[in-house]
Amino acid sequence: MTDKRHSKVLIIGSGPAGYTAAVYSARAMLNPVLVQGIQPGGQLTITTEVENWPGDTEVQGPDLMVRMEAHARAMGAEVITDHISSLDLSRRPFTAKGDSGTTYSADAVILATGAQAKWLGLPSEEKFKGFGVSACATCDGFFYRGKEVVVIGGGNTAVEEALFLTNFASKVTMIHRRDELRSEKILQDRLFRNPKVELLWNHTVEEILGTEAPLGVTGVRAKNVKTGEVTVVPCDGFFVAIGHAPAVELFAGKLKQKPNGYLWTEADSTRTNIAGVFAAGDVTDDIYRQAVTAAGMGCMAALEAEKYLATVQAHRDAAE
Ligand code: FAD
Ligand code: NAP
Repeated sequence: MTDKRHSKVLIIGSGPAGYTAAVYSARAMLNPVLVQGIQPGGQLTITTEVENWPGDTEVQGPDLMVRMEAHARAMGAEVITDHISSLDLSRRPFTAKGDSGTTYSADAVILATGAQAKWLGLPSEEKFKGFGVSACATCDGFFYRGKEVVVIGGGNTAVEEALFLTNFASKVTMIHRRDELRSEKILQDRLFRNPKVELLWNHTVEEILGTEAPLGVTGVRAKNVKTGEVTVVPCDGFFVAIGHAPAVELFAGKLKQKPNGYLWTEADSTRTNIAGVFAAGDVTDDIYRQAVTAAGMGCMAALEAEKYLATVQAHRDAAE
C-alpha cells in the first residue's frame, strides 16, 4: 500500500529558501510538509565558512543549515527525508511522488529545489569523476594532502574552493578563461596573497589526462584562448567550479521557464504561471544566488502561499 500525505503547503527543497518558507508557513498555522531531497540543507552543506549571513561574522555552512532545520521543526514544520521524483501540477490538489513511495498532495506548493554544479562536459571529465575529478573541494579536498591540484572557474565558488584546497594541497593552480575574476574583491585579495596559488589566465581546459589502471588524474591540457598555445599542467586532482544550473528537471514542460532555464516568476513575486505554485531561491534566481536572498524569497513564497490559500478559502465560503 502506498502512503498518502496531504498538507496545505508542500515545500520541495531544504536549502535556505525551503527552510525559511517552512518557518513562515508553520508560524501561519499552515502545517507545512517539507521534503528535503538528496542534499538535506542544500548547497551550503558543501562549503565551510560563510561570512555573509547576517548576524554571524562567520558560521560553518553545514552548522547553519542544521540550525535552520531545527528552527523549521521547532515552529511545527514536518521535515521529511525523501526525494520527489514526479510532480502533477495540472490538477488540484497538486500531487508529488516521492522515491519512498509516498504520494504527497497539497493545496499550495513551494518549489525550492536550488541549483547543482555545472560540469565542463568533456568525455575525460566524465571518465575521471570520482577518480581525481570533483566539483566539491569540501568533500574531496582531504584526499589531496601534499599533492598538486587544479581548479577551473573564476567566480566565488572557484576562489573559495581554491583557498580551501590550500589547506591540503602543496600547490593550487587556478585556470580561468579570462584575465579577470568574477568573484568578490575580498576573496580575490585572499587568493592573490596566498603563496600556494598560481593563476593561469585566459585558458580553458581541453582534456583531463590520467592513468587507466588504477584510474587517476595526472594533469590537464589547457589552451590559451588568445594564442592557441597548449600547456599541460601536472596535477593529482581537478576541481570544476564553473557555476551552477537550476534544478528544474521536475518542472520541464509543466511550468514557465526563463530563456536561461530558471523558473519564471511574476515580477517582485514568487508566483509562477500556475496559481498556488510558488518558486523561491536559486531555482528561480539567476541574478543574486545568495543564501540570504534565497531565504528572503522563501519568506515571500510562504507569505504569498498563505494569501493564496486564504483567497481560495474565501471563495469557497462565499460559494456555500
Ligand atoms: P539549495 O541550497 O540549492 O537547496 C536546494 C534543495 O532542494 C536541496 O535541499 C535539495 O536536496 C533539494 N531538492 C532538489 N531537488 C529535489 C527534489 N526533486 N525533491 C526534493 N528536494 C529536492 N551563498 C552565500 O550567501 N554565502 C556563501 O558563503 C556561499 N557559499 C557557497 C559555497 C558553495 C561551494 C556553493 C556551491 C554555494 C555557496 N553560496 C553561498 C550560494 C548558496 O549556497 C545558495 O545561494 C543557496 O544555498 C540557495 O538556496 P536554495 O534554498 O535556493 O537552494
Ligand atoms: P558564477 O558566479 O556563475 O561563476 C562561474 C565562473 O565559471 C565564471 O567565472 C565563469 O567565467 C566560469 N565558467 C563558466 N562556464 C565555464 C566554462 N565552460 N569553462 C570555463 N569557465 C567557465 O558561479 P559560482 O562561482 O558557482 O557562484 C554561483 C552563485 O553562488 C553566485 O551568485 C555566487 O555569488 C554565489 N556564491 C557566493 C559565495 C559567497 O558569497 N562567498 C560563495 C560561493 C558562491 P566568466 O567569468 O568568464 O563568465
